[in-house]
Amino acid sequence: MIELSQVRKVYPGGVTALDDVSLSIPAGSLVAIVGPSGSGKSTLLHLIGALDVPTSGTVRIDGRDVASLSDSGLSRLRATTIGFVFQQFHLAPGMSALDNVADGLLYAGVPLSSRRRRAALALERVGLGHRLAHRPHQLSGGERQRVAVARAVIGDPPLLLADEPTGNLDSASGSGVMELLRSLHSGGTTVVVITHDRDIAASLPRQIAMLDGRVS
Ligand code: ADP
Ligand code: MG
Repeated sequence: MIELSQVRKVYPGGVTALDDVSLSIPAGSLVAIVGPSGSGKSTLLHLIGALDVPTSGTVRIDGRDVASLSDSGLSRLRATTIGFVFQQFHLAPGMSALDNVADGLLYAGVPLSSRRRRAALALERVGLGHRLAHRPHQLSGGERQRVAVARAVIGDPPLLLADEPTGNLDSASGSGVMELLRSLHSGGTTVVVITHDRDIAASLPRQIAMLDGRVS
């Protein structure tokens, strides 16, 4: 599903965020990316998510070399193949849970009525079938993150990427979100999770440890 070969990422200004990273994540994996702040975890996840391209080296996602894709090819890859979840949820504040989740299909060209129907099903799957009309500020942190997960997976992407998805949650809500990621993995989704939480990382089948831009 994911192949990185000798990847370097140098940001404008000269920070080398990734330095000679090679790794392979087969389809069906459940992987934790761990490491101290500034070690390159988010940069790695952005490259895996085709949100950015490497300075040198190759990144292949689902068989495609991201450097060979046009901007619209990258957008299509993200829309069809990859779901994202972030620490800060990134939900639209004035919109219902239903419409936040329906937005996950915005770039797939699905009409609004069927987006909403699928959003309701996705919210039921994450245990929020009774919160469709709630706005983000009317939901707990754990519920907001479950809405964000529903939005990420409404299009059934084969790859789900999460950057510190439990970072803003108490441990009970965090466990609920991790349970959800595990059940998606059981259903066949490849899941890659950045986490600072040693217990969460240790509970996953594989850990990729980052240090100073390298896989250590
Ligand atoms: P982590 O997620 O492990 O905390 P990051 O991948 O966010 O690490 O950052 C790795 C390094 O790259 C850090 O030194 C950070 O300051 C730098 N960095 C991250 N994003 C940018 C950017 N957009 N421009 C310049 N430097 C960046
Ligand atoms: Mg980060």
